[in-house]
Amino acid sequence: MLPTMASYEVLVVEDEEDIAIPLVRTLEREGYAVASVSSGEEAIARVAGEMPAVVILDLGLPDMDGLDVCRQLRGGGYEGGIIMVTARGGELDRVVGLDVGADDYLSKPFGLAELLARVRALLRRNARTDETSVTTASGLKIDVPSRRVTLEGVEIALTAKEFDVLALLAAHRDHVVSRDTLMNQVWDENWFGSTKTLDVTIGRLRGKLEAAGAMERVVAIRGVGFRLETGG
Ligand code: CA
Repeated sequence: MLPTMASYEVLVVEDEEDIAIPLVRTLEREGYAVASVSSGEEAIARVAGEMPAVVILDLGLPDMDGLDVCRQLRGGGYEGGIIMVTARGGELDRVVGLDVGADDYLSKPFGLAELLARVRALLRRNARTDETSVTTASGLKIDVPSRRVTLEGVEIALTAKEFDVLALLAAHRDHVVSRDTLMNQVWDENWFGSTKTLDVTIGRLRGKLEAAGAMERVVAIRGVGFRLETGG
């Protein structure tokens, strides 16, 4: 059976509802697609199948030690971002957290603005590592070093922003990339303009892919973002 593809970017692993609920709400308000679970076992099962971009992992879980959860996620090949959250007083040393494969570490109580900044930083870092060339099964080649897109050897001329949007969607193909992530990574985090710019860019990109006869389609997921799919 194929794994279910994540329809969200951030997985919150937290058993305390008083913390989990406002956290999820804040992330959603920022435009992220979020899922949440309350145990280590659920976290491991979902991350393995769904590969979210970032996991926010509480260390004090009812069924497992968060450190073991982190170790198992990395052991299972998870390469996304992991932010560990620990109670005040430090259940562990920061070094231990980083040692088991976490990328970042926050102590409770933490400000939501601080958490959002860490999530953004991890998503940006992931996008950079994701900047690899992609060739889809239907022959669409997105070459990052030369910034050229070809379909069976024929170039599809894209603007710089159209290329960046396509490269980001292709790096996460079949997964949803939120509007916020696209805006932050293709424009920049200080972009305060209208997100209409994104829709216009997506519209042009769709038109060019279609005109070239590509089987890839940029599908809008209402209220969340966009996903690159290969049609049949
Ligand atoms: Ca807890």
